[in-house]
Amino acid sequence: MSSSTPHQFDLLILGATALTAEASRPEIRDAAIGIQGGRIAWLDSAPPEHWQATRTLHLPDHFVTPGFVNVHTHSILSMVRGVAADLGFAPSYTPGIPKGTQVNAQQARALARLGALEALLQGSTLVGDNFVHADVGTEAMAELGLRLAPSWRIHDVDFARVAHGDWCYDAAIGSATLGAGLALHERWKDHPRVRVNLAAHAVDTCSDGFLREVAAAAEAHGLRVSTHLGQSKVEVDRVRERTGKTSTEALLDAGLLNERLMGGHCIYVSESDARKMAEAGAHAVHIPKCNAASGRMAPTPMLKRMGVNMALATDTQHADMVELMRWALATARVQEGGVSDEWQPAHVFHMATLGGARALGQQDDIGSLAVGKAADLVVFDARRPHLRPHVNPVGLLVHTGQGRDVRMVVVEGEVLVEDGLPTRVDMETVCAEAEAAARELWGAEGRHYWR
Ligand SMILES: [Zn+2]
Repeated sequence: MSSSTPHQFDLLILGATALTAEASRPEIRDAAIGIQGGRIAWLDSAPPEHWQATRTLHLPDHFVTPGFVNVHTHSILSMVRGVAADLGFAPSYTPGIPKGTQVNAQQARALARLGALEALLQGSTLVGDNFVHADVGTEAMAELGLRLAPSWRIHDVDFARVAHGDWCYDAAIGSATLGAGLALHERWKDHPRVRVNLAAHAVDTCSDGFLREVAAAAEAHGLRVSTHLGQSKVEVDRVRERTGKTSTEALLDAGLLNERLMGGHCIYVSESDARKMAEAGAHAVHIPKCNAASGRMAPTPMLKRMGVNMALATDTQHADMVELMRWALATARVQEGGVSDEWQPAHVFHMATLGGARALGQQDDIGSLAVGKAADLVVFDARRPHLRPHVNPVGLLVHTGQGRDVRMVVVEGEVLVEDGLPTRVDMETVCAEAEAAARELWGAEGRHYWR
C-alpha cells in the first residue's frame, strides 16, 4: 500500500486504553484499533497517517480488552442458580432440584439463551457450554453471535440414579450420549464460530471402557475433550475404588490425558497428577468462584509451579469473567499466604483470555489483541467512579471492575453488544422465556420459592 492510499477500516476505535494480553506490549494508552474484514488490521498508539473508516468511535476513558474465553459453563443450569450452590454439592449430584434429565427442548432453548446472553453482556466472546439438549442449546446460543465450544454431556452412568448414590453404567446411555456428541460435531463443523468438543462428564460418571471410546472418537475426529477432573471427594473416592488410581491417572490410562484435554475444577489433584498434566500438555480449567462457594479451592499455585496451562471459567453460578479474575487472584493468595510476583492482575487476565484460547487450541486466532488476530474485543466504560483513577488499568479492572461495566462486545468484527444491550436478540424476551421455563421445571418443588 503506498503512503497516500488510505487504510480502510470497517470500525476504528480511537482514544481508549488497549489491554492487549500480549506480553510484548500489554498496554497501549490512547490506542487506535482498526478492524477490517473481521480481523484486527491496526493496533498502535496512533492511527495510520491516511485512513477511512465506515464507523469511527472516539472512546476516551474506556478500556478495550480481548474477548474473554469462558471455557466451562452449563447455561441450562441457570435454572438452579441461587439454590443449588447452597445445598452442598454440584447440581447433577444433588437431590431435590430439577435435573438435566427433566428439561425439555423448549425449556433448554430458553435457559441456554439466558446463559449465553448473560455471558456475552459481560464480555465473554467464547463460551464452552456442555449439558443436555446441546442440539437446541447450541442453536439458541449461536443466535446471539458469540463463539461457542459446545458439547453434549457425555457419560454412561445413569444420572437419574447418581443423586441417590447409585453409580450404574449403561452402554446404551454411553452410545447415545457419545453419538449425540459426534452428531453435534457433524452439524456444526463448518460454522466459523462454533467448534464442538466432547465433554466426558467426569471419570466417575464414565466407565473405564467408555472413557477409552471417547478417547478414540476424539482422536479420530481431532476434537478436544472437556471433563470435570478432581471436582469432588465423591468422584475421586469412586474412581479410587473402581481403578485404584487418581482421576488424572485414570484419564492417562484411557488415552485422554493430552494437549486436547480440558480438566474442569482440578481441586483434588496431587503434585504427581499435576506433573502428569503438564507433561501431557493438558489444561486445567480453574473455576474459583464455584469452588469457593462450596468451601474449596483448587491448588492453583501448585498447578502454576508445575507448568500446567490454566484457563478460567464461571461454570454454573454467574458469567462474570471480571469478577472471576478477582476470585482467581484472591484464592491463590489465600493459599500462598500473601502477595507474590507469581500472582498479579496480569496473570489472571492472561488466564481469562489467552489461557482459555490455548486450552481450546485457538490461541493463534483469539485471546489477545494483535494485528492479524480475529477482532474479538470488549469495551469497558471506565468513566465510572469505581474504575478511576486510571493509574494501572489492568489492576483496576481485576480489582474493582465488573462484567456490568461492559459497554460493547465485538466478535469477528461484528458488534454484538452496543451500549450494554444485545444487538441480535431482545433482552426482555430472553429473560421472560427463561423465567417461565425455570418455573415449569421447578414444578411442585418450586412452591418453596415462588410463594
Ligand atoms: Zn461443570
